[in-house]
Amino acid sequence: MKAFGVFEYMKKYRYENLFLCQDDRADFKAVIAIHSTALGPAAGGTRMWRYDSEMDAIEDALRLSRGMTNKYAAAGVNMGGGKAVIMADPKRKDREIIFRTLGQFINRLGGLFYTGEDVGTTLEDMEYIHMETPYVITLPQYLGGVGPISPLTAFGVIQGMRACAKAAFGSDDLKGRTVAVQGVGSVGSSMVEQLSEAGASLVITDLDREKVQALAERLGVRAVGLDEIFDVECDIFTPCALGAIINDQTIPRLKCRVVCGAANNQLKEERHGDMLEERGIVYGPDYIVNAGGAVYDSDRLVGGVNLERGRQKVARIYQTTEKVLDLARDKGIPTYRAADLVAQERIVAVSHIKRSSGSREVR
Ligand code: NAD
Repeated sequence: MKAFGVFEYMKKYRYENLFLCQDDRADFKAVIAIHSTALGPAAGGTRMWRYDSEMDAIEDALRLSRGMTNKYAAAGVNMGGGKAVIMADPKRKDREIIFRTLGQFINRLGGLFYTGEDVGTTLEDMEYIHMETPYVITLPQYLGGVGPISPLTAFGVIQGMRACAKAAFGSDDLKGRTVAVQGVGSVGSSMVEQLSEAGASLVITDLDREKVQALAERLGVRAVGLDEIFDVECDIFTPCALGAIINDQTIPRLKCRVVCGAANNQLKEERHGDMLEERGIVYGPDYIVNAGGAVYDSDRLVGGVNLERGRQKVARIYQTTEKVLDLARDKGIPTYRAADLVAQERIVAVSHIKRSSGSREVR
């Protein structure tokens, strides 16, 4: 965004608020971006990262908060999009001070913004935020939350994958399908377990060779090198590590009919979604298929913790993905564009029936 006009950018994408928070006693600098409260209070994780500049931090918070608006909207959750970023080394040790300070700023917003875990933050950090404010979504079970959400994110991605498989192969049964998984961290490893149970044949890789070895030994899955994963003959390629992994270098190498995984911002640029389309590869848009954790986590705000109800809501990712793929086919557009349309359509429709924008209630 260079030395960008912040107001101009906010106007272009219809952002509501941008809060800059500082406390020099705590050596604390953070940005909270609220993209939209059209569907309900804004929510999004807290990222802690060493940004090169203040502008980079502002840009990241703005961009990520807009992504959350689309994720919740398309998933049928009545929450808006927000994001907090703390400008600090994610390995910083004085975590109680840092996260309680953030908690005070969030509390001041009075329910406009709820937060959870993200890159560089942990469930323990959420406990510190929770000491200062009730507006925390991701919490351990002993504090009234649902605990770790990665298995439900994995479960949701698999529902999206089944819908993609139906579009590509005419059947949503994953039994006998070969799935290449890049990244077997929290979500990836859970996907490997669940897919293995469903009878899929797995090929995996990760920077962390110990994780790969442990899974390969336990489940009998095939391990390949980091770069080799792009050349694997498979039905489905599953990015569960980094963003921007679908790009000019990797697309020509892929030997799959479906790309569907948990990683955020998989397309390096939007045109890479068009390239997948041109190659006849069905792309399950990232924020549609990876919404499971967010759906499960926010469900307790509606009527208390009910794990079965949360799981049922996550299972709807199958129908949402199907809707996106059908729309893409009917309109002759790539699936990532259809995903944005589905999200926007719901925001517009629900905004009309909502009593007031910016409601603090979660429904
Ligand atoms: P994680 O940190 O637990 O796992 C990521 C794994 O990717 C690690 O094991 C890491 O070693 C590996 N990795 C990093 N670079 C790699 C490379 N070049 N090649 C192969 N492996 C590599 O993270 P996670 O929670 O499992 O999340 C995975 C992705 O899914 C992230 O992009 C995250 O933003 C996204 N996501 C996660 C959730 C969730 O519920 N955790 C929800 C939505 C989206």
